[in-house]
Amino acid sequence: AKDAGKGQYATYDPELDERANYDAQLGAELRLAMDRGDFRLVFQPVVRLPDGVTVGAEALIRWHHPQRGVIPPDEFIPAAERTGLIVPLGAWVLDEACRTAAGWLHEQGATRSWMVSVNISARQLRESGFARRVAAALHTSGLPAARLMIEVTETAVFDSRAATESLNEIAALGVAIALDDFGTGHSSLGLLRNIPVSVLKVDKSFIDHITHSTAEATIATAMVSLANGLDLGVVAEGVESAAQARQLHLMGYRLSQGYHFARPMPAAEVGELLAAQSPE
Ligand code: C2E
Ligand code: CA
Ligand code: CA
Ligand code: CA
Repeated sequence: AKDAGKGQYATYDPELDERANYDAQLGAELRLAMDRGDFRLVFQPVVRLPDGVTVGAEALIRWHHPQRGVIPPDEFIPAAERTGLIVPLGAWVLDEACRTAAGWLHEQGATRSWMVSVNISARQLRESGFARRVAAALHTSGLPAARLMIEVTETAVFDSRAATESLNEIAALGVAIALDDFGTGHSSLGLLRNIPVSVLKVDKSFIDHITHSTAEATIATAMVSLANGLDLGVVAEGVESAAQARQLHLMGYRLSQGYHFARPMPAAEVGELLAAQSPE
């Protein structure tokens, strides 16, 4: 299949055929799993540097398969996107994350200023009426818009008028927008002019080597300086060591996420971490 193209037409592509089969099967399983309620959300703390106090949380989906155990999102989100099932599944994620966060707020009162963030795929963002769905999730759960952040990738927004329109409508609701995996997709810098972004999440691949490569450290420094200059929030993703956390703090990073501080955890645990912040 790889040397098709160049003016030739591939009439049969076993790779594509296999993928179509795989998608059809996985799609059917995902539908069943949704009906059975086999999906759960876990939440990874977003922490303040340098002290590691939890100031937010990102919702991450898990599939609790009755035979195969817990299946990570990288193994089913791509197929859910190709089959369109991400639309109902993503709607569930949004509702569940808002409902959970409204529960934390209810337990704690509104004295602590955390936000919950939810990953939104390209397909969801381009669906017409997506902003109305976000408004409905807020309304139904009672979560204030200012507590919600949606995370979108550059690639999801790139070259899509529908996505840009959705984002403008969502921003008008008072929901914050983060550019996820920042630096890995298309058109990083131009996008910042065209969409109402308030936070950059610097991808783990830009954090991994900062402690032993001057070039990598230069890039990570440029990213925080870009964010500061544009008055955007910035989160360093995938922080795995104390040395990285220290260096990021010296570079001017104020927020991070990563196994060094905390792994994704059940809602009740992250609720306690959020409550442990001193009230503002
Ligand atoms: P992401 O949005 O970039 O989320 C961060 C991923 O990095 C999570 O993996 C998290 O567990 C992992 N991670 C966090 N800190 C560290 C670290 O220090 N080291 C390492 N090695 N990994 C770290 P997870 O939960 O497996 O999610 C993978 C991807 O699946 C996410 O990447 C996101 O793109 C997608 N995803 C997860 N949940 C959802 C969802 O509800 N909807 C959509 N559309 N996509 C989702
Ligand atoms: Ca994310
Ligand atoms: Ca990310
Ligand atoms: Ca990622």
